[in-house]
Amino acid sequence: MTLLQLQDLVARLYADRDVRRGVDGSIQSLAGGVQRLPAALDGDDLEEQARVLADIMVDLTSVAIGLEVNLEEATRLHIHGCPECGNNPCDCN
Ligand SMILES: [Zn+2]
Repeated sequence: MTLLQLQDLVARLYADRDVRRGVDGSIQSLAGGVQRLPAALDGDDLEEQARVLADIMVDLTSVAIGLEVNLEEATRLHIHGCPECGNNPCDCN
């Protein structure tokens, strides 16, 4: 699945929910997923780890949809190297 396909899927699947909660609600849900990630990574449950990562990805996609950002186009900034230092692999830090 491409990022564009994911964005189309999330737009159809969660349209009503995302309109109800707004971008701020999607950001709060995204933050909740990121907060759950360390505990999931500490465990041995690979399905739980994948589920938390998927929830984060879907919530990030909902935020992008709410802000009318095309994630596929936005991430193209990284195709030719790090947007900060211009190198591939990145030399930052
Ligand atoms: Zn860099």
